[in-house]
Amino acid sequence: MLKAYCSENPTMTDLTHQVEEVANLIADAERVLIFTGAGVSTESGIPDFRGTDGIWQKYNPEDFTIQKFLSDKQVRKRQWQMLSSGDLSMSKVKPNPAHYAITDLENIGKLYGVVTQNVDGLHQKAGVSEEKVFQLHGDLSHAVCLECGHRYPMDMVAEWLNQGMEDPACHLCMGMLKPDAVLFGEQLPIKVLMESERRSRKCDVCMVLGSTLSVYPACFIPQYAAQAGAKLIIINIGPTELDHLAHIRIEGKAGDVTPAIIRGVRTRLEVKHD
Ligand code: NAD
Repeated sequence: MLKAYCSENPTMTDLTHQVEEVANLIADAERVLIFTGAGVSTESGIPDFRGTDGIWQKYNPEDFTIQKFLSDKQVRKRQWQMLSSGDLSMSKVKPNPAHYAITDLENIGKLYGVVTQNVDGLHQKAGVSEEKVFQLHGDLSHAVCLECGHRYPMDMVAEWLNQGMEDPACHLCMGMLKPDAVLFGEQLPIKVLMESERRSRKCDVCMVLGSTLSVYPACFIPQYAAQAGAKLIIINIGPTELDHLAHIRIEGKAGDVTPAIIRGVRTRLEVKHD
């Protein structure tokens, strides 16, 4: 059941009306681009960065720059410790209803792509086609050797960490290992970024789920979409940096609101075909 999230937020009638409006937009659209942030995965049990229970309440964001990772062994140890402590361990997490609703959007032929800042692989686990997922910040399912480029499944590295290794090295060349997620100050994967930008300029609707839209250059994607004339929909708990560009902004949980929208789209498409 759809819930208005807190007392300052829209009444149930407003919320239902907003969901219906978004469902209408998507039913009429040909290319829907989804842009996700950490908030789409909190209902799967992965903390976000800046929310009230976010990772930055526990860890220092300054430790997450590429410069510090490369130059400071203690910083590397803390990052590996965080991974082995389970705070960012992705192998056992499961998609939630928001992820499955996005997969359903692909099933009904409307999904132009999912551009995600997340490193958890949950869109693919929920069944979205690999070629439609653009992971701007890499993914935490692997670690990569910075010398020879060999990639190791994170589960294997986690085992080494649990055996007491504090700063694991490549077993082939002894080079430095790094989680294969993009750190602050590091270049984003260029092909993924370019394809995300291209799609942002060609979509009819761009729907943002669970992001403060405060991380650059990722947040240029919904901005480009709005500037190119797409309808920008934002679903988030709390304000975002691009609220002023939103055609519709829904204050609510991604796991409640997204399935309600996609159910609405299905109903409209079935009615159209009758
Ligand atoms: P953020 O932490 O800046 O913002 C998340 C937003 O989502 C917050 O406004 C929060 O209130 C909202 N939110 C939390 N739960 C929600 C829910 N159930 N429904 C709707 N909204 C919800 O996250 P960001 O904008 O994605 O930027 C953080 C960076 O952190 C990203 O670059 C990403 O790479 C990384 N990150 C990824 C993961 C992951 O892979 N799951 C987890 C933490 C951080």
